[in-house]
Amino acid sequence: MPTNNTPVSLTARKRVAQRASYICEYCLEQDENSFIGFEIDHIISRKHKGSNDESNLAYTCPDCNRNKGTDIASIDWSSQEIVRFFNPRTDIWAEHFRLSGGFIEPLTPIGKVTVDIFRFNDRVRLPDKDVF
Ligand SMILES: [Zn+2]
Repeated sequence: MPTNNTPVSLTARKRVAQRASYICEYCLEQDENSFIGFEIDHIISRKHKGSNDESNLAYTCPDCNRNKGTDIASIDWSSQEIVRFFNPRTDIWAEHFRLSGGFIEPLTPIGKVTVDIFRFNDRVRLPDKDVF
């Protein structure tokens, strides 16, 4: 698959946002709660030859997108294995995560590396939660 440096079209961006119901497909934040506009993520980054096809795009909050960067996986140090991140196109959120007390808890190795690298539970990301 050739590297694709063509920007994602506005039409595709709108379809991806609508498909996601305007919610971050990783951490479930609603875009109306964000001061900064949500973004379109290449699930498999262009650096790794991911395409602009909508099957490779996700609607994300700026925090998830920045923390993910061009990464596609991390290391699960409990098993010392490389584990891919959650893929909102092929995985089911509730099989990898659950909400608990205002935090997102991982249920699987995929969930664990995604929670860790995307920093789902940073205090700054939960300003309305009682974490003190
Ligand atoms: Zn997010």
